[in-house]
This record gives sequence, C-alpha cells and structure tokens, in this order.
Amino acid sequence: MTDDQRARIQEFIAPLLVQPGSTVRLPDDFDPGYSHPGLSKADAPALLEAGIEHLAELQDRLYSQDTYGVLFVLQAMDAAGKDGMIKHVMSGINPQGVHVTSFKAPSAEDRDHTYLWRVQRAVPARGMIGIFNRSHYEDVLVVKVHPEYLRGAQLPPSALEGDIWARRYREINDFERHLVDNGIKVVKVFLNVSKEEQRARFLSRIEDPAKNWKFSSGDVDEREHWDAYQQAFAEALSATSTEHAPWYVVPADKKWFARLCGAAILAHTLLEIDPRYPTLAEDELAGLAASRERLLAEGPLPEED
Ligand code: AMP
Ligand code: MG
Repeated sequence: MTDDQRARIQEFIAPLLVQPGSTVRLPDDFDPGYSHPGLSKADAPALLEAGIEHLAELQDRLYSQDTYGVLFVLQAMDAAGKDGMIKHVMSGINPQGVHVTSFKAPSAEDRDHTYLWRVQRAVPARGMIGIFNRSHYEDVLVVKVHPEYLRGAQLPPSALEGDIWARRYREINDFERHLVDNGIKVVKVFLNVSKEEQRARFLSRIEDPAKNWKFSSGDVDEREHWDAYQQAFAEALSATSTEHAPWYVVPADKKWFARLCGAAILAHTLLEIDPRYPTLAEDELAGLAASRERLLAEGPLPEED
C-alpha cells in the first residue's frame, strides 16, 4: 500500500473519530444520514472490493506474526447493521484469522463472575482479528438504561455505592489499556442509526418472511427507551474514547457508506500495526537452501497445468 493510500484512509475516517477528552452529544454531533460529499452508492461496490483486497493482504501479514492482535468492538442500537457489517467487511478475509463473538444477556455462569470475565475470555490471540458483536459496553449501556438489571448481577453492596458508571468507565479504560500495552490493539465502532431508519428496518423485518427471525417484539419495547440509550451512548463515548482505544461513530442510515467506513477503520488499525512477515535468521535461510537442494535432487518437477 502506498503512502497516498494510507493518507486517503486516514482522511476518510478522520471525521468519524471521537476525539479523546471531548464531550459527545447525540444526535447533534454525529449525523446518522451522513456520507462523504462526492461519494455515491454507485461508487461503493468497487471501493469496498478494493478495500477488502487491502484488508485481506494486511490480515495475511497479521496472521503470520505472533506479537500483535486486533480487537474490533461493534456497538449499536438494534437494526443498525452490525451483522451486515461483519458479513460484508470480513467477506474477503481468511476465516482462520478471524474470530467473532456475540454477547447476549449474561448467563448464570457469566453472572457468577465479574462483568469483564466473559469478555476477557474472548479477547483475540496474537495474530488474530477478534470481533465483538456487542461487548463489555453493554454493561454501561443496556444496564445503565435498565439499572434494575444490577439487582441480578450478584454484586456486593459496596459495588453499588457512589457513581458505578464512572467506576465502570475507568475499569473499561484500564482493561483496554492493558490489552493495548500488551499487543492487542483495540478499536471501537458505534454504528449510529437514526430512530426513523430503525423503524423502517423493523417494519421490513416484520414484512419480509426471510427477515422475521431477526425481529423480536422486545426490540420495539427497547425502542421506547431510545433517548435514554442515546444518552448512555453519548456518555460512554465521551468517557472511553482514548488515545489507545478510540471510538469511531459510523453513520449507519446508508448501509453502503457504513460498510466502507468499517473497512477503512479496520484497515487503518492494521496499518498502524504494520504487520510484517517474519524474516528468517541466517542459519534458518541456510536450512531452507539445503532443503531446496534435496527436493530438486529428486528429479524433474511435474508439468504445471
Ligand atoms: P441480539 O444482539 O439482538 O441477539 O440481542 C442481544 C441482547 O442481549 C440485547 O438486547 C442486549 O442488550 C442484551 N445484552 C447483551 N449484554 C448484556 C448485558 N451485559 N446485560 C444485559 N443485557 C445484555
Ligand atoms: Mg436483536
């Protein structure tokens, strides 16, 4: 990849970054319907295909080394397009190097542990790209909107005193810092869908039999809490977008644009690592040369077809 291409990716995603230390207001600060001026839906397939090709090459390099890994966190309201983004952005990538984990309401086993336990267990290994479809952020989003969930969380009384959310933001920042300091790069995407677009997508899930499985009536109940979720997202983004683990707010009303953004953010993250194929030491190279001689000495190779 050329320096020019790197610069273009950086420029593409710059408006989506939540500046560390800034205070986010939703929906004022990020428009769910935004796409870059001069870019149209017709341009998207070719751009995405080219982007995915770059991603595949970067991932191949990442997989070849054993120092760095990438954790890509996806959070959103229902029907914002998390699954579609995973499907499309990861389409050209070697499945051996990717691991997707979806986080649902905590199980009995999860609740017997602290809230970061299940997430820590799913953190990608070095060489891998880990994708979190929902994440530890649910514990400062859905749980903040429904504080009654804390009653089932088996916490000691002291953990409920004072500002539990400020404490959780700090714990999350510390946890992510630990990952990054030790080689696992963290990048976080909030797919920002509008309330009207969510309504349209819910209706299409109800009306199209092939999409019925994606819908549950609970989704419409959660929609009643839209403003509280927006507030919780704004607070979480403000408190946890850091230099080491930044948040990007991706406009999600246009799926084609959201997917381009997702690919660009992942590419940018991999470029920051700049993973290289391992190189061999002198004695290993000599070993390779010796093996080559032995294989060639066996005789002529078959014709290629
Ligand atoms: P889905 O991704 O549509 O399958 O839904 C998963 C559901 O699990 C969502 O409603 C989330 O809000 C919920 N969920 C995920 N993590 C938690 C959590 N830590 N506490 C409560 N609910 C959660
Ligand atoms: Mg759902």
